[in-house]
Amino acid sequence: MLWTRLPLYGLSKPSTGGWKPLLFDGGAFHLKGTAELARAWLVLRLCAWPPLVTHGLAVQAWSQRLLGSRLSGALLRASFYGQFVAGETAEEVRGCVEQLKALGLLPLLAVPTEEEPDSTAKTSEAWYEGNLNTMLRCVDWSRALVDTSGAARNSLMQLKVTALTSIQLCKELSAWIQRPASSSELSPERLAEAMESGKNLQLSYLSAEQNHHLQASLSRLHRVAQHARAQHVRLLVDAEYTFINPALSLFVAALAARWNRPEEGGPWVWNTYQAYLKGTHTRLERDAEAAHRAGLAFGVKLVRGAYLDKERALTQLHGKEDCVQPDYEATSRSYSRCLELMLRRVSQHGPLCHLMVASHNEESVRQATKRMWELGIPLDGPVCFGQLLGMCDHVSLALGQAGYVVYKSIPYGCLEEVIPYLIRRAQENRSVLQGVRREQALLGRELWRRLLGRKA
Ligand SMILES: Cc1cc2nc3c(=O)[nH]c(=O)nc-3n(C[C@H](O)[C@H](O)[C@H](O)COP(=O)(O)OP(=O)(O)OC[C@H]3O[C@@H](n4cnc5c(N)ncnc54)[C@H](O)[C@@H]3O)c2cc1C
Repeated sequence: MLWTRLPLYGLSKPSTGGWKPLLFDGGAFHLKGTAELARAWLVLRLCAWPPLVTHGLAVQAWSQRLLGSRLSGALLRASFYGQFVAGETAEEVRGCVEQLKALGLLPLLAVPTEEEPDSTAKTSEAWYEGNLNTMLRCVDWSRALVDTSGAARNSLMQLKVTALTSIQLCKELSAWIQRPASSSELSPERLAEAMESGKNLQLSYLSAEQNHHLQASLSRLHRVAQHARAQHVRLLVDAEYTFINPALSLFVAALAARWNRPEEGGPWVWNTYQAYLKGTHTRLERDAEAAHRAGLAFGVKLVRGAYLDKERALTQLHGKEDCVQPDYEATSRSYSRCLELMLRRVSQHGPLCHLMVASHNEESVRQATKRMWELGIPLDGPVCFGQLLGMCDHVSLALGQAGYVVYKSIPYGCLEEVIPYLIRRAQENRSVLQGVRREQALLGRELWRRLLGRKA
């Protein structure tokens, strides 16, 4: 362990020794304007109201009919869109990012693209090619928006594989991967070679059309990774549903085999691990060890997992054993174990191992900061934090002010595309929206304080 234990703001050893936890008490709200706080309070209150989330798409359609698209659009821009989305144009996104940077936070751009399996337009090769261009532009923006001259000021962006390849193909590949004795045709190395050479793979169990789509998808993934590497942008690949995750992980492993070699200075391609799945700790341990043995750098975005309701519904539908942890406490224990595993690996392997603690949970964030201190992991080293734009600013701001590297995941794009996407995400994350009560209370207290003109 080469790193020295640094004196940390808020964590530095007091005279009695020991560790002092960060305070997530809304003290850092003084950095924000009153209008911003009032909007956050109102929007988060509305989001915690279940009928609005359930009927969000219908409410949007009604408001357009009653108020007209201009007025309803203006209302959305002043509320939900303004709270959770960076904007539409490069200028708007830049403005949002500059505000974040002034608060000590960094951008993690996310293109909110979603395939619609029933739409022929949104499953066509042309649609995926269009998404490729959007992703390449996202790489450029991610690069331009962060000054990477500082030690840990890496440019990161999220990559959703299903924007570049069809869910149907991922489903078929995943089913194949999970069969015993299926491995040789589908090794990461074979895919990596096909990605780079552009030569057709011709998998025996796919149709000619599917093989063609696979090759086109591999080439799109390769182009994004190649461009990201050239622009010094790290790609954080999102995890999605368990019926497609094995294929997504295979794509990540193929990209990692090429772009996470130590001489590249990566990891440039990271995978996401969902702690709400029962097998995640074992998988994380196995993958970390495999990367180490192969001499590859290893990057992890650690999340609890966003698709709880759908996973449970699918399990019930197919009468399978539930792959999701039985309750919230079990998910939190799993998150804590995965966090410990990764922090230990970071402390052992240093810059070859990177971790994003992607959580709004105060306990998880506290555990991470405490263990970083105990293991001597520097604040501006390979561990960073991630939260969604417009959520849990009391956590993000406190971390940022204390010198930790914090990214806000920011979707951007036009209102018509992003609002339905946000509503679907909100529907999948009801438990999270219900859980923002503490943030609402802190926002309310700060607004009262300002209204009464009291000192902080
Ligand atoms: C930067 C960033 C990137 C993300 N990327 C991804 C991604 O790629 N893929 C993805 O799936 N998610 C992703 N998420 C979302 C993430 O998985 C969580 O849904 C979200 O962050 C809420 O978890 P939490 O730790 O922040 O908060 P908490 O409020 O502490 O946890 C809520 C979570 O606990 C779990 N949970 C709740 N109730 C139960 C229950 N009854 N049984 C079992 N588990 C339960 C669920 O996972 C739920 O989302 C991302 C989040 C961030 C901030």
